[in-house]
Amino acid sequence: MRVLHPGYGDRSRKPSCFESGAIRRGYPFGDLREPVSMHRIRFDRGEHQARRKAGEWIMVETCYIPKDLAEALRIRKETGAHPIAGGTDLMVSHRRGTGVVPKFPWPVMIITQLKELQKIEEEDGEVSIYAGSTCHEIEVAELVPYQVRKAASLMGAQSLRNLATIGGNICNASPKGDLPVPLIMLDARVELVSATGKRQMLLDEFIDGPKRTKLQDDELLARIIIPQPKAPFTYLWYRKIGTRRANAISKLSMSAAATVDTHGIIVDFRSANGASGPKVARSRAVEETIIGLSVDRLAERLPAFLDAYDVILSPQAMPQYRRSSTRRMLEFFLSEVSKRPDTTIIE
Ligand SMILES: Cc1cc2nc3c(=O)[nH]c(=O)nc-3n(C[C@H](O)[C@H](O)[C@H](O)COP(=O)(O)OP(=O)(O)OC[C@H]3O[C@@H](n4cnc5c(N)ncnc54)[C@H](O)[C@@H]3O)c2cc1C
Repeated sequence: MRVLHPGYGDRSRKPSCFESGAIRRGYPFGDLREPVSMHRIRFDRGEHQARRKAGEWIMVETCYIPKDLAEALRIRKETGAHPIAGGTDLMVSHRRGTGVVPKFPWPVMIITQLKELQKIEEEDGEVSIYAGSTCHEIEVAELVPYQVRKAASLMGAQSLRNLATIGGNICNASPKGDLPVPLIMLDARVELVSATGKRQMLLDEFIDGPKRTKLQDDELLARIIIPQPKAPFTYLWYRKIGTRRANAISKLSMSAAATVDTHGIIVDFRSANGASGPKVARSRAVEETIIGLSVDRLAERLPAFLDAYDVILSPQAMPQYRRSSTRRMLEFFLSEVSKRPDTTIIE
C-alpha cells in the first residue's frame, strides 16, 4: 500500500483549510504522496484493512520470528535480517504517517521472545545485562549499578520503558541515548554473538559515532558486562537534563563516580557526558588529573580540571549553555565530594 491521499503528490501544493488536519500537517510524507487513480485507492484501502485485520502491523519483505537464539543467529547469517527488539526506535524511524503501518526496506527478525537475551545476572563480581532486558526490568534490578538504573528510570514514559530494551538503546547509537553514558563511565563491555562465535569489546569502542556501531551483519548484541570497580565507589551521581520531567530526550546527561579512601585521597574518579558530541564524551587522561589528590585540595585544582574537561566536549554539539551546564554539574559533584557527606548517592 503506498497511497492514502491521491492528488497531493505535488509537495509545493498547499492543502486548503477544508482538507483534513492530517493532510494540512503534511502527512503522509515522501512517496506516499504520489497521485493515483480512484480504483487504485479502493484496492489499497481494502488491502490495508485486510492486513490490519490479519494482525499485520508492519510492512516488510519478510519477517522472521526465531524460536531461540541459535535459530536467530542462523537467520541473521543467512539473510542479514535486521533485529527488532522493543521497536521504539525502528518503528518511529520507519513511520510513514498517521494510521499507516511502518515499512521496512529489508527483512526483519523479531527478537523480543528470545529468553536467552532476557536475563540480568552476576558472576565473579561482574553484572551482565542481556540485550533484551527492558528499561523497566533494569530500573528495578538491584544487581544493576545505581547510575544505570537511574538512567533507565528516566527514559521516556512507563509504557516506553516496558518495551524499550538496552540492546536497542546501544545499537541505535544515538548521541542522545541515555544508557551508554553510565555504562561507558563504568567501563562496560559488550558481547557480540554470531553463528560462528562470540567476541567482546569495550562499549566505548563498539559505538563508533552517531548511529554507527561495530556490529557485523551476522551478529547480535548478546549482553553488556559491567565490571566491578577496584574499590566500591564512595560517591555516585547521575543527572539528565531534558525539556520536561518525563518522556524527554536528553539535552545533556552526566554520570559521575568517585572513590575516596579513609585518608581523604581520591583513588578513583570517572565522569561521562551524553548528548555532548557524536558519542559519549569521556577522557581518562582528564580524570587522572584529580586522581591521587586529597579532597582538601580539590577546590584549588577545580578550575584547571574544568578547563581540561571543556576541551573533550565537541564544539559542534555543545552550544554554550551545554558547556556551562556541564561545568556547573561537575563543579557541584566535586564540591559535594570535597565535603565528604555520609550518603553515597549525591542528589
Ligand atoms: C516517545 C519516545 C521517548 C523516548 N525517550 C528516550 C529517552 O528518554 N532516552 C533514550 O535514550 N531513548 C529514548 N527513546 C528512544 C528509544 O526508546 C530507545 O533508544 C530504546 O532503548 C530502543 O530500544 P528498542 O528495543 O525499542 O530498539 P529497537 O527500535 O527495536 O531497535 C533499535 C536498533 O537496535 C537494533 N537492535 C536491537 N536489539 C539488538 C540486538 N540485540 N542486537 C543487535 N541489534 C539490535 C535494531 O536492529 C535497531 O537498529 C525514546 C523513544 C520514543 C519513541
